[in-house]
Amino acid sequence: MAGSVQMTFDLVVVGSGLMGSAAARHAASIPNTSVCLIGPAEPQTRASRQIFGCWYDEGRVYRRIAAEHTWSVLAQQSVARYTHLEHLSGVRFHEEVGYVHATPDAAEYQELMKCGRDQGLNTLDLTRSWRKHFPFFNFPQESYIFWEKSNAGHLSPRNLVRAQQVVARRCGAQVMPQVVSTVRPAHEPSHRWEVVTEGGEVVRAWRVLVAVGGSASLRPLFRHVAPGLQPHLQLRTQTVAYFRISDQEAHRLRYMPTLFTNCRFEDLDGGYALPPIKYPDGRWYLKVSHNRRHEEVLVTEDQVTKWYRRATGIPECVAKLTRFLHHLLPDVQFEEVSGDGCLTSHTPNQEPYIDIIAQGFGVALGGNRWAAKSSDEIGRLAARLVVLGEWESEVPRERVKIIWTTQSKL
Ligand SMILES: Cc1cc2nc3c(=O)[nH]c(=O)nc-3n(C[C@H](O)[C@H](O)[C@H](O)COP(=O)(O)OP(=O)(O)OC[C@H]3O[C@@H](n4cnc5c(N)ncnc54)[C@H](O)[C@@H]3O)c2cc1C
Repeated sequence: MAGSVQMTFDLVVVGSGLMGSAAARHAASIPNTSVCLIGPAEPQTRASRQIFGCWYDEGRVYRRIAAEHTWSVLAQQSVARYTHLEHLSGVRFHEEVGYVHATPDAAEYQELMKCGRDQGLNTLDLTRSWRKHFPFFNFPQESYIFWEKSNAGHLSPRNLVRAQQVVARRCGAQVMPQVVSTVRPAHEPSHRWEVVTEGGEVVRAWRVLVAVGGSASLRPLFRHVAPGLQPHLQLRTQTVAYFRISDQEAHRLRYMPTLFTNCRFEDLDGGYALPPIKYPDGRWYLKVSHNRRHEEVLVTEDQVTKWYRRATGIPECVAKLTRFLHHLLPDVQFEEVSGDGCLTSHTPNQEPYIDIIAQGFGVALGGNRWAAKSSDEIGRLAARLVVLGEWESEVPRERVKIIWTTQSKL
C-alpha cells in the first residue's frame, strides 16, 4: 500500500476469524480479484486487547447432522472440503473421531435419525449398544443415543484460521493485522468504500465484507451504511472447563468421540465434551462445556472485554462441569482443571446472516454457536455473493438475510 497511487481492492474483508478468513480464501481464488483481509491476530495476552474473536482454542465439535436445514447444509459442504483444505495449506486442523449424541427426548432422536437417513449420513443407533463401543461413557438409562461415525469429530479453530489464511495469501490476498473503526462511502469515483482502521489508515475497496463476529453489535461499523441500526445479535457467554490429563489417560480415551447431550445433570440442561486434544503447551486436555444454563447475555463492549480478560468463565459453572465430567466419564483421572470464557453471537431466527446490505457491502455474521464447523461454506457463499452476485446453495437466500435492530448505544 506504500507509494503515491493507492491500491483499490476488489474486496476488503473485515474480521480475520473463522468466517472472514474463509471468505478471503474463497474470494482470492476468484480470477482477477484482489483481496485484503483486515483483523487482529490472536492476542499474546488478553489484557492488551479490547476486542476478541471466538477462535482462540484447539477444540470445536464438527458434525454434519443438524435439525436445522441451513446448518446441516453449511456443515456438509464445509466438512466435505476439510481434507482438501488441509492438503492445499499443509495445515492439519481436523480429527475424524466421530460424534455421539445423547438425548432423553424420543422425538428429537427420531427427527435427527431421519435427517441422517434422508441425507445419507452415517448415523447409527447406539441406544442399546453404546457400552460395547464406548465403555468409558455413562448415560442415563432412559436416553436415546446415536453415533455419527464418519465425517464428524473435532477441529482446531486456530489451525483452521491459519489454513484459510495460508491459502488466501498464496492466492494473492494481503492480510493486515489491524482493527477497523468504521466503513464509509467514498466520495471519489476511483473506489466505492473506505475502510478506516483504528491506526487511521484508509483502505480503499470496491466491495466490503464484514465478518467480525459479535463485535458487529458493539462497534459502529455500520454507522454510514445503516444509520441508526445495528445487526440483531445477542451475545452470550460460554464457560469452558479444561481438564488436564496424563498421557496414559489420553491413551485410554483415544477412541473417545465428541459428545453432545441434553440429558439433564443437576440444573444443567446438558452440555458437550471433547476427547483428549493436545494443546500448544504439549499437554492433553479434555474440554467440557454447557448448553443454555449458565449462558449470560452481555450487551456492552466493556462487559465483553472484562469477560474475555477475566479468562476464567463462571467459577460456579466450572465446578459444576467438573462434576458433570465425572458423571459422563466416571473413571476419569485428571491432574488439573481450569476455566475460560468465550462468547457466541445469536440471531433471533437462529440463521446466520449472509447478505448484501448496500451496493458492494456484504455481511457474514451470526454463528449461533455452530459456525466453526460451517465457516468454510459461510465464507464461500458470502465471498461469491459480494464479489459475483452469485448464490448457489440449497439454503434459500431469503433465509439468511440480516435482521436489524435499533441502534442502542453506538
Ligand atoms: C466456547 C465456544 C465453543 C464453541 N463450540 C463450537 C463447536 O463445538 N462447533 C462449532 O461449529 N462452533 C462452535 N462455536 C462457535 C464458533 O466458534 C463461532 O460460531 C465462530 O467462531 C464464529 O465465527 P466468526 O467468524 O463469526 O467470528 P470469530 O471467529 O470470532 O471472528 C471474528 C473476528 O473478527 C475480528 N474483529 C472483531 N471486530 C473487529 C474490527 N472492528 N476490526 C477488525 N477485526 C475485528 C475478531 O478479532 C475476530 O478475529 C463455539 C464458540 C465458543 C465461544
